Amino acid sequence: MLIDELKNLKLKNWSAVLNEDKILWLELNKVHKSTNTLSSEVREEFGKILSVFEKGIAEKFPAGLVIYSKKKTGFCAGADVNEFVETAEKENWEISSRKIVYDGWYMFEKLEQLSKKIPTIALVRGFCFGGALELALSCRYIVAIDEESTSFSLPEVKLGIYPGWGGIKRLPQKIGVINAMNMMLSGSFVNARKAYRIGLADVLSPLRTVENACIRLIKNQPKKKGLSHINRLMQGPLKKVAYLLIRRSLKKKAIEAHYPAPFGILDLWLKQNGDPTKDESIHSKILGSKTAKNLLRVFLLREKLKDLGKINSKAKNTEHYTIKHIHIIGAGTMGGDIAIWCVLQGFTVSIQDLSVEQIARVMKKASRDFNRKFKNKYKQKSLLDNLIPDLIGSGIEKADVIIEAATENLEIKRNIFSEIERKAKPTALLCSNTSSIKIEEISKKLKDPNRLVGVHFFNPVLKMPLVEIIRSNKSDQNFLNFAMNFTSRIKKLPLPVKSSPGFLVNAVLMPYLQSAMRTVDNGISPEDIDYAMKSWGMPMGPLELVDTVGLDICLAVGETITQSEPTPICLEELTRKRHFGKKTDQGFYKWEKGRKVSKTKLKLTETEQKNLAENLIKPLIQKTISLVEEGIVDSEELADAGVIFGTGFAPFLGGPIHHHRNK
Ligand code: NAD
Repeated sequence: MLIDELKNLKLKNWSAVLNEDKILWLELNKVHKSTNTLSSEVREEFGKILSVFEKGIAEKFPAGLVIYSKKKTGFCAGADVNEFVETAEKENWEISSRKIVYDGWYMFEKLEQLSKKIPTIALVRGFCFGGALELALSCRYIVAIDEESTSFSLPEVKLGIYPGWGGIKRLPQKIGVINAMNMMLSGSFVNARKAYRIGLADVLSPLRTVENACIRLIKNQPKKKGLSHINRLMQGPLKKVAYLLIRRSLKKKAIEAHYPAPFGILDLWLKQNGDPTKDESIHSKILGSKTAKNLLRVFLLREKLKDLGKINSKAKNTEHYTIKHIHIIGAGTMGGDIAIWCVLQGFTVSIQDLSVEQIARVMKKASRDFNRKFKNKYKQKSLLDNLIPDLIGSGIEKADVIIEAATENLEIKRNIFSEIERKAKPTALLCSNTSSIKIEEISKKLKDPNRLVGVHFFNPVLKMPLVEIIRSNKSDQNFLNFAMNFTSRIKKLPLPVKSSPGFLVNAVLMPYLQSAMRTVDNGISPEDIDYAMKSWGMPMGPLELVDTVGLDICLAVGETITQSEPTPICLEELTRKRHFGKKTDQGFYKWEKGRKVSKTKLKLTETEQKNLAENLIKPLIQKTISLVEEGIVDSEELADAGVIFGTGFAPFLGGPIHHHRNK
């Protein structure tokens, strides 16, 4: 009997039940973990299950097979990245990673063969990422549960690797080349409804009826919807044309020498229809690159920061970390966006300002953002209901977390905190978003100055993942833990930093921006400088960044952070003329409707650009190293993480110190 044979395998992570309809329900439940991954053990066991089917005689096949997850967190997160990183640390990683890829490829080929004999279903609730989606694609049908959390992606490209278990072959066949390449080359995800719309999910079902939906699919075995005519052509006679067009648009977004994976994915699709076993050179090009190792490192750094917040939620005084209500003082650029972000993460937020107009501006922006993000009117309304305009600060008494994001002025901040201390719950977390004033100075007049923590968000809040958690010598550890925990609960990455001018991120950025501005003083054009740094791998040129942040802000912050260095002449001259950058339509560049206008032709040769970039980045690297030596950040790893997630520092280099040490 099939079920007995499966039982004899003594599987740890999979369990099977054969129901009266002869449908085999195969449940994935990775032992001792809250999340399913396709770890080597899980894959090995799945391979054994497939072997039972393989050697089986036709009459022992069930009527159908449904693969689903027992975990509440989701279907499956794909390959176990930690295992992959362990492999990456081995000397022969190119060869060992090849084995992992090839084994997975053959395994899902077998699953596809089985799917031709009996109807197989991947029943997906929650996330279905990477290798898990490749498993689902090898089934005959994908059933998606219609919930907000259900999502599909092939994010390998973000780690500098590629979907080698059949994703490159099967995704274009299922949803067409353009949709598939959009997903694979960016690593973006699609939710359940979009998955159904583009044909990735064959059935979209509410949870309560999903069992019946699977049974019906297996009984009726409907024919799958075919691809459109143009999509079939793009995988037939027009494949090369499609390839060239996609490659051309890819080249506008990524530099092949820095990010070989998306180009390799495209090549593997064109040349071998996604079969990695047929072309070792493509595997070597992608996995043999430093980029793959560095991007895996960046993934782990992100996990490390996430864990800092999680560990603290398990610390002793967890009862203090109840968060229901957040109060924000200052409805300007930062306060407004922090409020909107916290509401999006499911919290009730009250927002206070001296100015009614400022509060009204935030309410209007919130409404626009929520409407854009969610089509469901009830969802839009319930989010807006959770954002409370609060001119008199009545939210202070109820709040579990209070964030001050008012004007950067010591007296204003001191007065605000005196009032907060009088009204707030004794357990409430008090934070300041100051970017340059010492926490010790702000908290000086408080009865309990140790209670104040710096929680430094970055602009634009909705996009920047990092939050620096600033501690003074006297900061209360419990409130610091609370701040770390709060940050991770609003899905940002907390980075602990000691109170010091510019903390980590601004302190390393300033010397870099100033050296770029001094290069302008020496007669090199902003265009040449920005182009050189973008070609080197930075997401934005330094002078465009100065224009975006504001030249007035850079002047003020620069004076606090790099006091011993003279101010660049161009910065003095432009600020004197009140050319503050994007916000005044003129800075190093002219700006029209928020877009940079630039007509100056590039003058530097490629070698000159490379040399310039290497020189300009040096002060940033040196400053990062010295901040670790001074104990402002606890380790080189954390400093690298902070600079990557706080400035966008070229991720393919794995962080400034890592790059410096491995040049
Ligand atoms: P902003 O000028 O846009 O907004 C400040 C708001 O505070 C204004 O709406 C003002 O009316 C309000 N305010 C002033 N005094 C107040 C009081 N007593 N009570 C209530 N509201 C009061 O400033 P911003 O750019 O949002 O910066 C706010 C804070 O965040 C500053 O400490 C700044 O250093 C820090 N910060 C700014 C950035 C940035 O890029 N703008 C980035 C990180 C941190």
